[in-house]
Amino acid sequence: MKKIRPPRPELEDIEAYEAKDIRAEVRLSANENPRNLPGEILDKLAERVRENIDFNRYPDPLSTRLREMIAEANGLEPGNVLVGNGGDEIILDVILAWGGPGRKLVDLPPTFAMYGIDARMTGTRVVEVPRTSDFDVDGPSLLAAIKDQKPDIVVISNPNNPTGTMTPETLLIDVLKATDALVLVDEAYFEFSRQTMRPHMERHRNLAILRTFSKAFSLAGLRAGYLLAHESVIRELTKVRQPYSVNRFTQVAASLAFRERVVFEAGIRETMRNRDLIVHGLGAIPGVEVFPSEANYVLFRVKQASAVWRDLLHDHSVLIRDFTRTPGLEDCLRVTVGSEDEVQRFLRAMDEIMTSKRAVSHFGMNMTSSRHMKKGGE
Ligand SMILES: *Cc1c(COP(=O)(O)O)cnc(C)c1O
Repeated sequence: MKKIRPPRPELEDIEAYEAKDIRAEVRLSANENPRNLPGEILDKLAERVRENIDFNRYPDPLSTRLREMIAEANGLEPGNVLVGNGGDEIILDVILAWGGPGRKLVDLPPTFAMYGIDARMTGTRVVEVPRTSDFDVDGPSLLAAIKDQKPDIVVISNPNNPTGTMTPETLLIDVLKATDALVLVDEAYFEFSRQTMRPHMERHRNLAILRTFSKAFSLAGLRAGYLLAHESVIRELTKVRQPYSVNRFTQVAASLAFRERVVFEAGIRETMRNRDLIVHGLGAIPGVEVFPSEANYVLFRVKQASAVWRDLLHDHSVLIRDFTRTPGLEDCLRVTVGSEDEVQRFLRAMDEIMTSKRAVSHFGMNMTSSRHMKKGGE
């Protein structure tokens, strides 16, 4: 056959997730932790790999040990916890189980792209309730959409990626009260924001909370995340999930990191200090509008943002994330909070780029006016 039958028509509108591996000396584009696992955890991991991981055996489908630790730390039972191959897998599982043809998901753009992508991929209708110009959730519109559309899933990234915005707890509670939809509160940046909806789980069975090992715990390369939810929700998700998605090595490494999680505290505090450096540093550069953030990244707006992004990469080897093509984020760039050296290098580069842009625009004006004068003189 020279021809291939086309795939499902839904795929036509979906763009593949940009996993371009752009090389740069300073990588501040994916909200990763700038530090690798602490040495003491790496040593223990090496020991475990040599001694007792049966790589020849299939892994425990439910990551029992890790699940028990996470449950205990959150005052829950193991049946309230699902471990997945990154938070991303769990988002897909939730949408596979609660979405699908004839079902609806409320999305609050601009936000994390995977919610909308997974919804479209599974034939779930997406009801968009855009955020305000300050990137806050539009409470009245969201409650109206819940009432009118009767969605099956509501997803709220809290803090919101990529804007850094927190949604007030009172509004989240209003949402939980207004609907029996599964309300997924994505707390991927919980260790930085230190705010959680966990205390509301007992009263609201439809609340599910997503967390990840990819950000504060330095394990983006490992792929581990978890969901806290009512046991009946977890039970449904185990019907749609890939049974062996969390491999043995990941279970061991994530368990070690979770058990030793106090050692990440110093890094988290350093990230908070470096975030302040970025907010103040960018705020001091004329022409840059900075948005407040409760996470390990900062969104900012600047004229000709794509050119700024390119200059950062090509002239300074600093890679950040370009959101200029995302509706609602025109002229916006997002920088991940790196180490202090990386942050200083980013800020110096920004200062240089913006200074030369101002010089060029003056120069450009002079050129134009002198040409006009010349023309006038002719
Ligand atoms: C990073 C992130 C996740 C999950 O990432 P994984 O690496 O798949 O665990 C989920 N939600 C948001 C908003 C994120 O930024």
